[in-house]
Amino acid sequence: MKLHNTLTRQIETLTPLNPPNVALYTCGPTVYDYTHIGHLRKFTYDDILKRTLTYMGYNVKHVMNITDVGHLTGDTDEGEDKLEKGAKKTGKTVWEVAQFYTDQFVSSIKKMNIIDPLVLCKATDHVKDMIHLIQKLEQKGFTYDTPEAVYFDTQKFPDYGKLSRQSIEEKKQAVRDNVHLDPNKKHPADFALWFKRVGRFKDHSMRWNSPWGDGFPGWHIECSAMAMKYLGESIDIHTGGIDHIPVHHENEIAQSEAATGKPFSQFWVHHNFLNVEGEKMSKSLGNFYTLNDVEKKGIEPMALRLLYLQAHYRQLSNFTWEAVKSAQEAYDKLKEFVITLRSQTSRTMLSEEKLQKVDEYRNRFRESVASDLQLPQGVAIMWEMLKSSIPSGDKLDLLFEFDQVLGLRLTEVEEVNIPEEIQKLAEKRFEAKKAGNYEEGDKLRKEIESKGYAILDSANSYVVKKK
Ligand code: AMP
Ligand code: ZN
Repeated sequence: MKLHNTLTRQIETLTPLNPPNVALYTCGPTVYDYTHIGHLRKFTYDDILKRTLTYMGYNVKHVMNITDVGHLTGDTDEGEDKLEKGAKKTGKTVWEVAQFYTDQFVSSIKKMNIIDPLVLCKATDHVKDMIHLIQKLEQKGFTYDTPEAVYFDTQKFPDYGKLSRQSIEEKKQAVRDNVHLDPNKKHPADFALWFKRVGRFKDHSMRWNSPWGDGFPGWHIECSAMAMKYLGESIDIHTGGIDHIPVHHENEIAQSEAATGKPFSQFWVHHNFLNVEGEKMSKSLGNFYTLNDVEKKGIEPMALRLLYLQAHYRQLSNFTWEAVKSAQEAYDKLKEFVITLRSQTSRTMLSEEKLQKVDEYRNRFRESVASDLQLPQGVAIMWEMLKSSIPSGDKLDLLFEFDQVLGLRLTEVEEVNIPEEIQKLAEKRFEAKKAGNYEEGDKLRKEIESKGYAILDSANSYVVKKK
């Protein structure tokens, strides 16, 4: 299995630390607002990564967090806590806000057929683990305390900047303009591990006792503490959006590796963004869509999933209503294939040549998805296979096998219950057609259609479906 590793900017072969297990940590949502179709693209591709690893024979241990405290409106310690902001806006408590958006997130990912992580962990349930990790860093001399916060001292960690490939001086420039200026902060790139309930945070409602006083954890320490708790000090793959590279993941690496002295994650995988009609998704532009908005237009979640798969995860992709409607049409066609193939499960004796073809399609599909998740290619191979001359039974088997990775719920496509009367008419028509009695065949087809059903013919068979 090959994956692009942001650490090295190379496509590398994955060699798990503890095979056949693969320890996978994927950064989860901050639950202060609705999960939108941009987020869902990222979570769908995390799911594709997990399914592909499973398909390749690995046993994936997947952990995902829910950020319900500490994520400020700016990534570099400025602004206010997103959850507190959400609570102010809606007049609810922070806990109610977190629960409401967590529920909406979970229901969206279920509809997208995203397999549940082994552990879905909330930051607020793990504050003790975070405090322990900060204490470890403190003992090793990587922190300093100011009246406002406990900071990680980036200048004590020589590798700081290795993920984004920015030197500490470049980082200084990058954050200087927007960083909240705690006059006691030694370097603008230093980041808070623990915020004290003073100054701008004096009314912060989520608070815990700590050796540094009442307060709450920073966003970055959450992911390090939870990843290590459930997966160990060194993991195989850590994912997030490309916006996580310069700050969130850089900081996760610094604090984790400073605490343990070991590499934190072998692979860093980053997903690109989803634009809408060529523009960044935002509420002010009116192009901010949730899964519910998409479903209201008659689009199934699996059609949206198919649309996502048509772009590579490292490409910027563009959502348009036209494209998602085409994806729905393609998904309808796929379902039709399933129904047709099921009705033709007769398996002809496989010739050597056809057997080779089956293997060839399987190998090409495997190779595509195992080459840094080339799903657009995988999907193209699936269509090619469906249109090929291999026997229908084998086509169906291969399609279902591919769907272990694609996750398009193809095995769940329902047979429409065709009334006996229609089935009889269809059989009569088929016999008429076979006997060359086309006039009679046409008459029967019209009768079937007038009753709300349609007939799809194939070489030696037919399928009846509801119109
Ligand atoms: P947020 O909860 O808005 O901070 O977003 C959480 C993560 O979702 C971000 O850090 C991104 O990695 C990802 N994300 C947000 N917007 C998009 C988008 N339009 N397309 C893809 N991923 C996104
Ligand atoms: Zn994270």
